Amino acid sequence: MAQLTLEDAADFVIVGTGAGGATAARVLAEAGYSLVLLEEGPLLTREERPAELLDAMALAVRDFGSQTTSGPTPMPLLQGRLVGGSTAINSGIIWRLPEDVREEWTRDHGLGWLVEREALTRIFEQLELELEVAPTSDEVLGNNGHKMRQACEALGLPGKPITRNARRCQGRARCLQGCPLEARQSMDVSYIPRAVAHGARLHPLCRATRVLRARGRAVGVEGEVLDPRTRRRRGRFQVMARRGVIVAAGAIHTPVLLASSGVGGPVGDYFQAHPGCAVVGRFAEPITMGFGATQGYEVPQRERGFKLESLSLPPEMLAARLPGAGHAWQQRLAELDHYAQWATQVRMQAHGRVRRSWLGSPVVQYEPLAADLAKVQTAVALLCRMMFAAGATEVFPGLGGLPEALTTVEQVRLLEQAPLKRQDVHLLASHLFGTARAGANHRTSVVDARLECHDVPGLYVMDASALPTNLGVNPQHTIMATVWRAAEALAERSARPPVA
Ligand SMILES: Cc1cc2nc3c(=O)[nH]c(=O)nc-3n(C[C@H](O)[C@H](O)[C@H](O)COP(=O)(O)OP(=O)(O)OC[C@H]3O[C@@H](n4cnc5c(N)ncnc54)[C@H](O)[C@@H]3O)c2cc1C
Ligand code: SF4
Repeated sequence: MAQLTLEDAADFVIVGTGAGGATAARVLAEAGYSLVLLEEGPLLTREERPAELLDAMALAVRDFGSQTTSGPTPMPLLQGRLVGGSTAINSGIIWRLPEDVREEWTRDHGLGWLVEREALTRIFEQLELELEVAPTSDEVLGNNGHKMRQACEALGLPGKPITRNARRCQGRARCLQGCPLEARQSMDVSYIPRAVAHGARLHPLCRATRVLRARGRAVGVEGEVLDPRTRRRRGRFQVMARRGVIVAAGAIHTPVLLASSGVGGPVGDYFQAHPGCAVVGRFAEPITMGFGATQGYEVPQRERGFKLESLSLPPEMLAARLPGAGHAWQQRLAELDHYAQWATQVRMQAHGRVRRSWLGSPVVQYEPLAADLAKVQTAVALLCRMMFAAGATEVFPGLGGLPEALTTVEQVRLLEQAPLKRQDVHLLASHLFGTARAGANHRTSVVDARLECHDVPGLYVMDASALPTNLGVNPQHTIMATVWRAAEALAERSARPPVA
């Protein structure tokens, strides 16, 4: 057995530094508790975040984006693995919890206290103030966003500039690589440094493998210290928690850690997502995706089960989206500046499962239902119509069984006529939910309304895993607000101890 290379102790130990873990740290550190923050990924400063997407992905995205669902048509599951978690590579889109979901969680899941309206409104307002939340201004919308607005005006769709946590955005279109100006208030530049300034000790490159228990109660975490270069194990750590252990490793890894720690109940069940795909359009005039908010304009369509968003990509990734081969592809490549890209995120009804493999890694089973694929089809057809309405000369729907490039709006009917098959669409998901869900019923949930495990006192789940269903809007604001609510109550409940 490798020697212990790191030992520490604090009031609370937090595993994971993304939307959930960092918010818990923000609240508990400022309430005067001592904290240890464990993060599997590295701490990357602004200077260390590469501008090239592939280099950035190698450093910051789990498994270089190759983690997928199992089954005949795997779906990539994108997640950040660095200090700041997925917030460090996201687009900063902010949406409050929709009222219908709030009511459903209150009525069907017994979460009335967690999502109590007045409390959540107060917390959302504070988050919005601290994280510099504002609508994307016209100056940094970029042509990708402006074109989407033009399409909405032509078709009478309810589009709007996206509200983001990036009031000082200068439109460098590099959110996915990490904002070079630190304008976007991801957790690595906001709540983690804030918690550290209040005494929290951050240990990057530490992968938690088990929650320790004594007399049934969670008392600490053990795991592996990773080599910064190879990411292989170079030692072990053990961190003891006097007041509680907070697991916030994200919706795929939290259930794996809970399962490794012998937590019972429906751990890993009820997995949900907002899978999506994108459509590219070619315009006669330059679009220049390299300028503008990475995601600046959106068309909410919650009643239809999807949302449309402009999505600018760095050139190397956009090039991979262009159809054709040989000379035809090279011609398209020469016009790289003339493409716009818009994506859809679909609120799917399907449920999946996350299980721990014998190697300790996650296995994710998930298949969209026919009703979910019908929503994808409607959304992609609408995106194609919007591209033509904004003046695109060619549209690449990116679906199997269709022409690679549509040149007239009438051809969109080809896409609308036959049901879409799963293997015809490249879905990808980055909004993941529900694998350790909160609820009043011990049989159908893992944690209670205060996000404490039904089974294990002193063990809390404070991340996307605890959300009982998907939302139909971007999730980070809801994750932060529910975690804030639970962490605030936890701080009040725990007798205030001396800071170690
Ligand atoms: C590319 C991309 C774009 C997105 N855009 C948006 C957006 O614009 N708006 C929005 O609302 N949402 C967006 N999301 C989703 C949003 O970022 C996530 O829903 C949110 O960050 C999830 O929070 P979390 O705390 O559950 O997990 P994460 O933020 O993923 O954090 C989990 C952390 O735990 C760490 N971890 C995992 N296992 C262990 C372990 N065993 N030991 C130690 N550490 C561990 C991980 O490395 C990671 O840092 C996007 C996601 C991605 C990937
Ligand atoms: S678009 Fe650029 S400047 Fe704006 S927040 Fe994203 S990376 Fe920062």
